[in-house]
Amino acid sequence: MIDLKKDIQYIKGVGPNKAKILNKLGIFTLEDLITYYPRDYEDRSNIKKISEITDGEKCSIEATVVTSLNVRMLGRYKSIEKVIVKDETDNCMITWFNQPYLKSQIKKGETYRFFGKMQVRNGVKQLNSPVFDVIEKNNNTGKIIPVYPLNYEIKANTIRKIIQNGLELAGELEEIMPDYILNKYKLMSYNDAIKQIHFPKDFDYFRKARKRLVFDELLTMQLGLLKLKGQNNKQLKGIKYDENVNMSDVINDLPFKLTRAQLNVLEDINSDMEKEKPMNRLLQGDVGSGKTVIAMIAAYKAVKSGYQVAILAPTMILAKQHLENFNKILGKYGIMCVGLVGGMTAKQKREALEKIENGNTHIVIGTHAILEENVKFKKLGLVVTDEQHRFGVKQRSIVISKGENPDVLVMTATPIPRTLALILYGDLDISKIDELPPNRQHVETYAVSRKLEQRVNEFVKKEINKGRQCYVVCPLVEESEDENTQNLKSAIELTEKYKNEIFKNYKVEVLHGKMKPKEKDEIMEKFKNKEIDILVSTTVIEVGVDVPNASLMIIENAERFGLAQLHQLRGRVGRGEYKSYCILKCNGGNELIKERMDIMTKTDDGFVIAEKDLELRGSGDFFGTKQHGIPEFKIANLFQDIEELKEVQALAIQIIQDDVNLEKEKNKLLNKLVESKFTSKSEITI
Ligand code: ADP
Ligand code: MG
Repeated sequence: MIDLKKDIQYIKGVGPNKAKILNKLGIFTLEDLITYYPRDYEDRSNIKKISEITDGEKCSIEATVVTSLNVRMLGRYKSIEKVIVKDETDNCMITWFNQPYLKSQIKKGETYRFFGKMQVRNGVKQLNSPVFDVIEKNNNTGKIIPVYPLNYEIKANTIRKIIQNGLELAGELEEIMPDYILNKYKLMSYNDAIKQIHFPKDFDYFRKARKRLVFDELLTMQLGLLKLKGQNNKQLKGIKYDENVNMSDVINDLPFKLTRAQLNVLEDINSDMEKEKPMNRLLQGDVGSGKTVIAMIAAYKAVKSGYQVAILAPTMILAKQHLENFNKILGKYGIMCVGLVGGMTAKQKREALEKIENGNTHIVIGTHAILEENVKFKKLGLVVTDEQHRFGVKQRSIVISKGENPDVLVMTATPIPRTLALILYGDLDISKIDELPPNRQHVETYAVSRKLEQRVNEFVKKEINKGRQCYVVCPLVEESEDENTQNLKSAIELTEKYKNEIFKNYKVEVLHGKMKPKEKDEIMEKFKNKEIDILVSTTVIEVGVDVPNASLMIIENAERFGLAQLHQLRGRVGRGEYKSYCILKCNGGNELIKERMDIMTKTDDGFVIAEKDLELRGSGDFFGTKQHGIPEFKIANLFQDIEELKEVQALAIQIIQDDVNLEKEKNKLLNKLVESKFTSKSEITI
């Protein structure tokens, strides 16, 4: 049995140079290579009669050469080769360019199989630069040919050949799914599926192979998620909060009227909190829909019932902002809040920890610092995680373990389409704020190319002269060794250019993830106080920050961001009374980019955007596979394969109910699959 983890360098046809190129495609081992699936296929198996072929059609023909190959030199290296071929229905001209050596390969009177694109002009047929085989051979024609996703450094033929070598080397592949599942769902064997997905005998085999591999991926994901959730599903005895503590006491005191959607959500939460079963609720609400105030009111109920609350924010900036807001609204009820963030002095931290431990503080708002072992609560009753996608399931369970089955509220602005939410968050109850507060501004969005740079800059100046402020978000840098460093570099370079050239009469500052917490705070504080006109940043401002005077969001290289992320970024503006704008600067303009930018300019609705993202990109970027820790799909497409996903989910539930830890003999293989895909680094958020 060959080791599938074998380095690709040692595969026939690869070597150190090609290995580097393949590495860039994410291919490191033999296993990666044979699971590098085609993105499409070209059917060269279906032999057509010349008379039936229409203009523009890609086709295979079997035809006999009737003239000798004519080579016309057009210069030292340029030439045109022409020959006439015929089958029993018609004849056609074949043309190649710069391949004079064909003279020795294409022989008059011989029959070949050609594959290429037919051109028909005034009834005259011409096949351009076809590939060909002598009839007994099936090298380039006569079969279905896989088309692989490529970078431009490697030729289609080369990778095809390398994959073929890899498959030969791998030999007969061991089965990775238990028989009872294969039989029940009539699935092709793993060995056949892998071979057929690359070089299918016909399209029926291809479909069966794809079905099998999609099934594997979906089932692995579902089992992984359910296994992790297994612990949460136990019936636990939680806290029953005081029915006499009325949320409406705070609601009626707020400086604004809650929306109907916010009130509905609070009703759900109130009823959860008064039940003995621990609350496990996901609160979905678009950016700016007002989730923070929901957390405050739930916290009020918990504190007034005698419990402490932990609020986890993904960034320091956000934790600080929450602390201010909580104090503003809840301070008057005698509720004490404390912040817990990295970068506090030792003394500040010690004092905070003491207060938390002896119960002198009611609400703790912080970042990952809350997770540390020395943070001990006297009586933790409610855990709220804000912008949950930044926290993994393990991290959440650490906080939960600091209390005794506390209630949990997970808040997210990631618009997960309903079907997916049900599947991914199956064990959480879901509430949704599907309405924005009435004072919200529609953010006018434009997608522009480099050509309009000048005009955009003028527009920025105009807005600042009116007293507004502007965010500029720097591009994500693709394919760099260290993403953060690269992003940092681009942010700093851009800031210099803005400061010293384009906006030299304005106050420009930069904000990025590698800055010290204190520096970040200072910059954010200055921006809030209008001491900065233009804030250039990496995506650290993506979540939560509230600066109502900022009316302009400029996103550099917008094509590199996922739609949901663009939507989040856009949500940073339009938070005040001023007309706000989002400008998406784009490089390049293929159809997909155009379509994606079109969606952004046409809709404000995060859920519509997420659905579209899913449709256009399969698993969709919002899904943030990396952030969620969910293994990325190589072949399944959550939009296309939603029916299969449902079927697989039902199966996964059955399996887990019967065997939570996948320990039974019959599930050994499944466990191995799940373990191999969900590495220890996986942080599934639920
Ligand atoms: P998000 O859901 O994105 O976290 P926030 O909770 O930050 O949104 O709310 C955005 C802004 O809207 C805050 O300034 C908040 O005070 C305000 N807000 C929340 N609810 C309402 C409401 N019902 N009416 C008016 N303003 C509201
Ligand atoms: Mg928020």
